[in-house]
Amino acid sequence: MKIESLKQALTTLHLKTMAEMLEEILKQGERENLSAVDILSLLASQEMAAREQRRVKTRVAQANFPVLKTLDAFDFAFPKSINKSQILNLFNLHFIEKKENAILMGPPGTGKTHIGLALGYHACQHGIKTLFTTAMNLINQLSASLADHSFLKAMKLFTSPRLLIIDELGYLPVDKQGAELLFQVISNRYECGSVVVTTNRAFRDWGAILNNDNTLASAMIDRLVHHGVLVQIKGDSYRVK
Ligand code: ADP
Ligand code: MG
Repeated sequence: MKIESLKQALTTLHLKTMAEMLEEILKQGERENLSAVDILSLLASQEMAAREQRRVKTRVAQANFPVLKTLDAFDFAFPKSINKSQILNLFNLHFIEKKENAILMGPPGTGKTHIGLALGYHACQHGIKTLFTTAMNLINQLSASLADHSFLKAMKLFTSPRLLIIDELGYLPVDKQGAELLFQVISNRYECGSVVVTTNRAFRDWGAILNNDNTLASAMIDRLVHHGVLVQIKGDSYRVK
């Protein structure tokens, strides 16, 4: 009966996992002759672990990944050319601490999105608020927000996460307003938060993608690469394989 009311109290205190594990860990305590401090420590660490798991789950849900990818599932032997240590280096997440950027550049199907998704998932698991979006989706959302006067709120969506992954820059041409909106995001995040961009186009073509505005393209590239790494992948499409 005492146990039941303790369970109730733990539940009321929002210590759900402690309540759930109480009986099991008390039994373990008897078996292994654990002290009260040992038992409480075990219960507290279970509670903390469960909470962290829930937080990761929430971060992953908020990050908006279309699918989950991992680095383990990436075959570094497939691309003709890829700097493995440069990519592994990104996965230690120091670049996010330093608010630096990464540009993943290469032809279609070479795993740019895969690496971006895996990096984002890894960041979520390490407590980093992340958002995954495509360049087009980012532009469309910001354009729509201009129309319904929610621009500041929409901009905050793209500036507040510690890691913003912008996928597929270069597949679709961007108009003047789109180019300016994208530039604003990059510019607002400059030295404030990390950006990972995936693109199938070399820097020299960015002007052509961005409404033929070479000045804006150079300013954007400047901000991305000033504190950033360029990861180039070369090879055939994995999809064709
Ligand atoms: P990109 O964004 O460069 O066009 P994706 O990352 O979308 O290419 O890759 C296309 C598909 O092939 C995805 O399902 C991805 O998981 C897979 N893929 C690409 N490269 C590799 C690789 N080296 N090892 C394992 N899977 C890969
Ligand atoms: Mg892609």
